[in-house]
Amino acid sequence: MRRFSSAIALALLLSALPSQAQESGRQEEKESKRDAVELTWMSIANWYFKVGPLRIVMDGYITRVPQRIFVRSQQFPADQYAFTSEPWSSNATDVLRVRYALEAEGRLDYVLAGHSHFDHTYDTALWAALTGAEIIGGHSTCLQARSQGLPASQCTEVSGSWVTGHGERLQLAKGVTVRVVRFNHSGNASNPFQHFGRELSGPPTPDAATGGFRAGVAEDFPNGGGGRAFLFTTGEDGDRLSFFVNNSASAFDLNAPVTVGGVSFGSPLENLAAAMRDAGLTHVDAWIGTGGLAVAQLVVPVLRPKVYIPNHWDGLFNPFWAGLPFPFKDANLAAYLDAQGIQLMPQQQYFDKYRLDENGVTMQSNREVKQRLGFSDVQPFSPATASVARAVSAAMGPEDCDQ
Ligand SMILES: [Zn+2]
Ligand SMILES: [Zn+2]
Repeated sequence: MRRFSSAIALALLLSALPSQAQESGRQEEKESKRDAVELTWMSIANWYFKVGPLRIVMDGYITRVPQRIFVRSQQFPADQYAFTSEPWSSNATDVLRVRYALEAEGRLDYVLAGHSHFDHTYDTALWAALTGAEIIGGHSTCLQARSQGLPASQCTEVSGSWVTGHGERLQLAKGVTVRVVRFNHSGNASNPFQHFGRELSGPPTPDAATGGFRAGVAEDFPNGGGGRAFLFTTGEDGDRLSFFVNNSASAFDLNAPVTVGGVSFGSPLENLAAAMRDAGLTHVDAWIGTGGLAVAQLVVPVLRPKVYIPNHWDGLFNPFWAGLPFPFKDANLAAYLDAQGIQLMPQQQYFDKYRLDENGVTMQSNREVKQRLGFSDVQPFSPATASVARAVSAAMGPEDCDQ
C-alpha cells in the first residue's frame, strides 16, 4: 500500500470500515455510553480488546519462533536477533485454538500491529486471513501481510506522526476512536537493527519449500520504523473511557524524532502529547506499557495514567501452552508508580482480563477462556521457581524485545 496523508488515510478508513463493525455499532449505539472496555492479555505483547462493539486483537503472536535459529550480528553483537539460520512458519493450529477460545463465534473486527518484529506480527496476517479482520499497522506490517496473500485493501497503513500538529484519528465504530502515535523501539545505538527505525522495502519472499519467513530483525521482520502506539477513547463526553498501549519503547531517544530514510515521524513524547491534546485528555484510565522505570519517568508526566498494566515482560521464547513462566517483578518501577499515585496491576496468568468502566480498572479471572486453553486461573509458582525466575527477570532489565 502506498503511503498517504493522514487526512486521506482517515477518509479511507472511514469508508473501509468492515460492515460487521458498522452493523454492531448501530445495534449497540444506545449502549455505547455505558460500554465497558475489556483488555485480555494473551502473553508477550498480545492483547484481545473488546471496546464498545468492537473485537480487536493487538499483535496476536502465538507461534513461538525458537531461540536456537537466531544469529547475532557480527558487527553489532548486542543485536542478537538480527538474522536466522532457517525460515520458520506460523503455527495456524495454535492461533485457531486461541481464536475459538476467545469467542465461540470467533468474530474479529481489527488486528492492530504495534511494530513488525517477529514477536509481534508473525501471526498478524494469519489472524486477519482467518477472521476477515482488517489490519491497522505500519508499512512493513502491511508488506508482511501482502507476502502472506492478504489483499492490500485488508491492511491499512498508519504512520502515527503528529509533526504537523495533526495526526491519525480513526473512528473504528460509533463512539470508539483510536489515535495512532509513532513511538520508538527498545535498545539504543549498540543494537541499531533492533532499535532504529527500519522498514521493509518490499514484500518479503516466502521460503519456496516451507512458505516460512526469516524472522530476524535485519531480515523479514524489521521494527517497522520504530512502532505504532494507540490511544483509545470510547464513550461520550464526560463518560469517556481511555487507555494507551505501546509495545516497545526506549528512554534513549524517546524525545528525539523517529526517522526512516531521513524522513522524520516526530518524537514519541511529542506525538503522544499532541494525540492527548487532540483527544482533549489530561490523563488516561490505563496505560498498557513497556520500558520499565526509565520510560515511565518520561511518559507519566504526559499520560498521567490512573493504572499501569505491564506489557511484554515475560520473555520471548517461553512455551505458550505452559502459561506464565515467572511472576512480574520490577521494584524500581513499582516504587516510582506508587509515589505517583498510579496503581500497578501486573498479570498473574495468561488470559487475565482487565475490565475498565466508570469505576476504574478491575482484574477478572476469565476462567472460562482459560479453561478452554488449559490454563489455571493463577499460575502456581513454587517458592524455588519464583526465586529463580525473579533473578532472571531482574537480569533482563527494562528492555523488551532484547532480554
Ligand atoms: Zn517485542
Ligand atoms: Zn521489537
